[in-house]
Amino acid sequence: MFRPRIETKESLAGYFLRLVEQNCLSGASELLQVLRQRDTPPSRPSLLPQFGVYALDVVANVLGRTTEEFELHCRPLDSLTGRTRKVQYLGLKWPLSIFRNKCRAWCPECMASNSIHRADWDLRLVTTCLTHRCHLVERCLDCGQAISWQNSRLDACRCGMRLSQVIALPLDIGDGRWVPDIADDADRLMRTLIFDIIGFPRNIGKL
Ligand SMILES: [Zn+2]
Ligand SMILES: [Zn+2]
Repeated sequence: MFRPRIETKESLAGYFLRLVEQNCLSGASELLQVLRQRDTPPSRPSLLPQFGVYALDVVANVLGRTTEEFELHCRPLDSLTGRTRKVQYLGLKWPLSIFRNKCRAWCPECMASNSIHRADWDLRLVTTCLTHRCHLVERCLDCGQAISWQNSRLDACRCGMRLSQVIALPLDIGDGRWVPDIADDADRLMRTLIFDIIGFPRNIGKL
């Protein structure tokens, strides 16, 4: 099995999709079988909002890596269900609603240049890529569906469209100049709040 290192800015769920790709597996559910992640009664909360992951030490063992490597990217849940469900990450608790836990958002140009799904795209408050000055894409431009974690490939919608090849809406488009300015400023404010003031997630560093 090909066992790449998880990258600092990579989402753990995205890393799992990369493992699926690089090991020619059929999808996330086959990978989770390979990683021996099975829920056994009584049900336990998944460590990841996106996939059923229950034991990082087993994941690390199968992949020949260290548990600590994955703990930096992990978001253990402290309860199973409900609107008040929280995600504990790096010692701080967050509402589950802060994460894009069902469907993905991405910057096509980032995806094209470095085939990983970045961790900051998993935060709902992050809506733009400041490197490429574009809005993150949240739907397949071919079939119109949201890109679910369960049914997508790392760089493809279930319909086959490559995520890295879509054209994202640039921040600077439009006749109303204040709209992109506000979007840009709001995004910077959120990033400052999340990454600099609150310090989340510390392992991702400056984005
Ligand atoms: Zn980008
Ligand atoms: Zn599609």
